[in-house]
Amino acid sequence: MANRLLLDVPIRRLHDVVAVRRGCREVAARLGFAPQDQVRIATAASEMARIAMTYANGGSAALSLADGPPAQMTVTIGGHDPGFADALDGTDSEYESVRAGACRLVDDCRVEARRDGAAIVLEKALPAGLPADAGRVAAADASRAIDAFSVKAQPGDGTDELQRQNRELLQALAELNQRQDELRGLTRELEETNRGVVALYAEIEEKAERLRQADAMKSRFLSNTSHELRTPLSSIRALSQLLLDRIDGELSAEQERQVRFIQNAAIDLSELVDGLLDLAKIESGKIAVHRATFSLAELFGALRGMLRPLASNAEVALLFEVEPAGALLHTDEGKLAQILRNLVANALKFTEHGTVTVSAQVDADGAHFSVTDTGIGIAHDDLQRIFEEFEQVRNPLQRAGKGTGLGLPLSRSLAALLGGTLSVESAPGKGSTFTLRLPTDAIQPAGAGTSDGAPLERP
Ligand code: ADP
Repeated sequence: MANRLLLDVPIRRLHDVVAVRRGCREVAARLGFAPQDQVRIATAASEMARIAMTYANGGSAALSLADGPPAQMTVTIGGHDPGFADALDGTDSEYESVRAGACRLVDDCRVEARRDGAAIVLEKALPAGLPADAGRVAAADASRAIDAFSVKAQPGDGTDELQRQNRELLQALAELNQRQDELRGLTRELEETNRGVVALYAEIEEKAERLRQADAMKSRFLSNTSHELRTPLSSIRALSQLLLDRIDGELSAEQERQVRFIQNAAIDLSELVDGLLDLAKIESGKIAVHRATFSLAELFGALRGMLRPLASNAEVALLFEVEPAGALLHTDEGKLAQILRNLVANALKFTEHGTVTVSAQVDADGAHFSVTDTGIGIAHDDLQRIFEEFEQVRNPLQRAGKGTGLGLPLSRSLAALLGGTLSVESAPGKGSTFTLRLPTDAIQPAGAGTSDGAPLERP
């Protein structure tokens, strides 16, 4: 790295310190430093020149330009006194505070031992885009400025003022540095907080992923297990029916009671397995919606036949109302029937007197089905809970062993699969109304085709 000497200013008297300051400022301006940086370099150099004056009784300031990289301006303040190095090495508090302040004004600041004393070297990187002859012009300008000052100056001129200015500048700088430190501290704190938040997000994301995996595993497990249970359960049901039909010979009254017990248990278990399997299929998105066109009257006819055996209580009337009578629907008939069957079976189960009314309304908004009973009703606090898996409300009609707690969650999932919603309103002691709303695409406009039957995969 070539080092070009631009200027050498002797420091013999105090007013030479001012000359150093002027020279440095001129050179820095010529080399393209911003005004603030010009003041910084000039201040650091003149303060060090003052130190050389005080501790070495004089010396010299050499301003040079290093080509780099990095290209930089160097001010070397030499103190030509063998004791200067020791003086700088000592613990003089004034020198220390001036040195610390001056060092902050430049990029690098160090003390080098010399044969005839010591030198303080200050360096500051040049701003980009230095003109080719800037060094030469800077040297000439600085010399002129120093000469002009020296001709006019009297010993002691400006030195006190300079010292005062420098002290103020150093103090302002110290305050600025303190603010910068505070700002750095705040930034660090903010960065740490941000890192914490990011880590927290990552943790939540990881937990959510684990939950998703656990959920998928649960569905797979339910689906596999339920599937495996179905075959033995059908065998138990079929075999118990064979026994009850006396195919293998007469049964005693006690034997018949016990076989019926086995058969009922197998039927209950089959319902549970079917419910679990359906839920697992819906959750895993493997269930297909088969849309077809059918009439509301046909659907209600089929439901009436299917539900009649359940309506065994003579004190409860099962009523069907269709509006308009000839309305057509275009949706998955099997799934719609399954939802309504669940709702009507519940209504009959929880109603001792009065009516269970199944009604359907088709209008421009879509199809609305409601199952209204005059039964025991559901407390307000339980209205959400009953749509969760395995949730049942304690009540006198909750016959032991009957029901799985899966009917409503399954019905709600099926309703969502058909693009609709299932909701409930109820008053304890008065009865409940479950409402299924299907969107307009579940309605077949009058006169349109009868059936497409195309399976539609839903996510
Ligand atoms: P299950 O009927 O098999 O117990 P569901 O999921 O179909 O399961 O219903 C959950 C619970 O909601 C029932 O156990 C019952 O406590 C309550 N419930 C459902 N329908 C009615 C109704 N129409 N009247 C009163 N309670 C009801």
